[in-house]
Amino acid sequence: MNRLDFILEELVTANRILANEGIVDSFGHVSARHPDNPQHYLLSRARAPERIERSDIVEYTLEGEAIDKKAPAPYMERFIHGAIYEARPEVQAVVHNHSPSVIPFGVTGKRLRPFLHMCAHIGHEVPTWDSRDKFGDTTLLVSDMAMGRDLARLLGAQPTTLMRGHGATVVGRSVRHAVFVSIYLEVGAKLQMQAMTMQAGAMGDIKFLSAGEIDKIVERLNDYTLNRAWENWARRAGRQMQAAVD
Ligand code: MN
Repeated sequence: MNRLDFILEELVTANRILANEGIVDSFGHVSARHPDNPQHYLLSRARAPERIERSDIVEYTLEGEAIDKKAPAPYMERFIHGAIYEARPEVQAVVHNHSPSVIPFGVTGKRLRPFLHMCAHIGHEVPTWDSRDKFGDTTLLVSDMAMGRDLARLLGAQPTTLMRGHGATVVGRSVRHAVFVSIYLEVGAKLQMQAMTMQAGAMGDIKFLSAGEIDKIVERLNDYTLNRAWENWARRAGRQMQAAVD
C-alpha cells in the first residue's frame, strides 16, 4: 500500500469514527494534506461523514479548487482546510465539526480550558473565532478563502479553535491525532460544563491543568496512545486499523 492509499483509507475511517463518536452529525468534515503534494489536500465531496466511501474523496488545491474538474459538489466550508494548510506547514490533518458541547463556550465568553489530563491536547486555552468581528452578518459558514484565512489567523499556532454559534476546528500532525484531539475537545467541553454547574454551589474554583502539566502531557503523546484509541474507535465504527506505511 502506498502513502496515498493509506491516507484515503485513514480518511474514511476518520469520518466513520467522528460520526460514531458523536463529534460530527450529518455535517462536519475531516481532511488530510496530500502525502505527495503539500500544496493539495484530500477531503470528501459534500456528504454526511457516516456515509463516506473512499470514492467520495476529492483532491483540492489549497484555494479549494478540485483537481478533477468533473468532481462532485464540494463542501462549502472546504476553505477552512486549505487556509489552515497554507498557514501551518506542519499540520497534516484538519477536522471541522459542530461538536455540541463546545457550542456554549463559543457564545458565553466562558473560556474552554483543560482539566482532564486527556484533554491537555486541546491547548492551554481554546480561542473563539467570531465571524461577525470581520465579516458582519453572514450565515456563519466559512464560505471563501478570506474567511478561512481569518480563522487560520485566530487559530495561530494552537491545536483547536471554537467558532461562535457554529462549532470548532481542530488540527493535527496526522489524521489519527486530529481525530483524537477532536474527541477529547468534546469530552473536555462536556466535563467543564458539569464542573461549572458544581462550582455554582459551594465547590470552589475548578482546578484546571497548569501550563506546565499541559506541556508535559502534550510532549508525552506518542503513537502508542494514538493507536490504542484509534484501534478501539475504528473497531467500534466497523473499520479496521491499518498498519502504518512510510
Ligand atoms: Mn460548519
